[in-house]
Amino acid sequence: MNIHEYQGKAILKSFGVRVQEGIVAENPEQAVEAAKKLKQDYNSDWVVIKAQIHAGGRGKGGGVKLAKNLEEVKQRAEQIIGMQLVTPQTGPEGKLVSKVLVTQDVYYPGETETKEFYVSVLLNRSTGRNIVMYSTEGGMDIEEVAEHTPHLIFKEEIDPKVGLQGFQARKIAFNLGLSGEAFKEMVKFITALYKAYEATDSSMFEINPVLKTSDNKILAVDAKVNLDENALFRHADYAAMRDLSEEDPTEVEASKSNLNYVKLDGNVGCMVNGAGLAMATMDIIKLAGGEPANFLDVGGTANAETVKAGFNIILSDPNVRAILINIFGGIVRCDRVAQGVIDAYKEIGNIPVPIIVRLQGTNAEEAKKLIDESGLKVYSAIQLKEAAALVTKVLAD
Ligand code: GDP
Ligand code: MN
Repeated sequence: MNIHEYQGKAILKSFGVRVQEGIVAENPEQAVEAAKKLKQDYNSDWVVIKAQIHAGGRGKGGGVKLAKNLEEVKQRAEQIIGMQLVTPQTGPEGKLVSKVLVTQDVYYPGETETKEFYVSVLLNRSTGRNIVMYSTEGGMDIEEVAEHTPHLIFKEEIDPKVGLQGFQARKIAFNLGLSGEAFKEMVKFITALYKAYEATDSSMFEINPVLKTSDNKILAVDAKVNLDENALFRHADYAAMRDLSEEDPTEVEASKSNLNYVKLDGNVGCMVNGAGLAMATMDIIKLAGGEPANFLDVGGTANAETVKAGFNIILSDPNVRAILINIFGGIVRCDRVAQGVIDAYKEIGNIPVPIIVRLQGTNAEEAKKLIDESGLKVYSAIQLKEAAALVTKVLAD
């Protein structure tokens, strides 16, 4: 689960990671108040207004702006709040900005005394261990650095039995070219950051840039924090940070009904129990000459309610020209699912596209009979081959 920069920074700060301080604002008046408070608390004459959206590259898109006085704070906040911010990561339609983070200016007095770094913590899947990835080339697109100057990206692998060791934190600070006070600060920063990563059950931290200020403090200017959804039950306070307006509305709807749904661009909607069968079903749709409109796993307990929720989600996609339901009745009985399909169909009413139901497993014959005798525009199949042929047929009609 992604969270906003201001939320990520609050988490980091709670673990003793130094961050660029800021206050979140939802309108220009709040932004002005925030700027006054920052001046009071941190003696920050200038402030930065930063759009809060779940995408990076905000600076490039005009979502990060410096303000030199309160008048400018108001202007910039007016510009940014409510804008449809387009960055290299949002896609051409951009994302609506509803909040800004007003922060202290930490680059004062100038860029000659400050230095930007890149630091991230993530899981290296091939070794099954966490790594700290870091670079002297902070503040820019790390993918570009990786492509053109890969030797400037370092990786430190962490042994899960002992965690990040002191010598590793020192090696990182050394490789980043630091000495004296800044070196010590970086060691503290990396140590606290790694602790936070483990304690929060995160799947990624990306801090770009990490800044060395002109007075040799090390702090997080940006914070991209990705929390592992499977561990959210252990962190109710983090689960509450979820911003549904940043997520695909149909995917949100699906997760409310405990359905595992991913929207795709094709024309055949599918509803399947089990992720593996769902993958196989998508292959079948392709072989039959269609393109899957979605991935939808209704899980082990397919009943009238889940089938209905699934129908509604699939039908909200205007590209769908046919629906293929492919259920294996292992624990769940096929005749129950068939009845669920019939009930859901009747309840929704006029479903404008043909439906193909393939039920295999316990009571498959009874299930087919129920469908065939329902009088609805539903084609039944038991074999996968028949189902595929039916998909080809209805797409050609
Ligand atoms: P991103 O563009 O979404 O990655 O947002 P960042 O939080 O990384 O900010 C983008 C850029 O804004 C940074 O790389 C800095 O160059 C600049 N920036 C951020 N905070 C400050 C600040 O306090 N003062 C100044 N002068 N620039 C800042
Ligand atoms: Mn950044």
